[in-house]
Amino acid sequence: MYQYEIRAHHGMCLAFFEGKGYSSEFTRCMAEIKRKMEENPMVCITAQTDIVCRACPNNKEGICVSAEKVAEYDRQVLLRCGLSGGEVMPFLDFQKQVYNHILLPGKREEICGNCQWNALCNRRKYDNEGKDIRTV
Ligand code: SF4
Repeated sequence: MYQYEIRAHHGMCLAFFEGKGYSSEFTRCMAEIKRKMEENPMVCITAQTDIVCRACPNNKEGICVSAEKVAEYDRQVLLRCGLSGGEVMPFLDFQKQVYNHILLPGKREEICGNCQWNALCNRRKYDNEGKDIRTV
């Protein structure tokens, strides 16, 4: 059983979210989701539209307008974390996998360097304990 679906690449987006997004409603929802995830709910890791996509203006009847691009982000995150779509786990376990396999080794940009938010995420780096350190 799980409480929320989280698409794989949103493990990165949630780590970097700092109150900016596609619309004010999206940003408000994203902040709320980030807060919920800190309570470590059971989540199903997916490559489909998820709880984050729900309030996104780019979600057109359940399909992201950048479906091909974000599908590749999801595929890469699943691959690098050794996960399969549909796996259920506590959110913080998933987040730890994303930190260990992608963020700490500095691999994020290889996955989503063509995202419009790339410059924002590039201002962050992570110390050995997984804490993010703003570099600029
Ligand atoms: S609909 Fe697309 S752009 Fe919007 S949150 Fe989902 S994956 Fe990201």
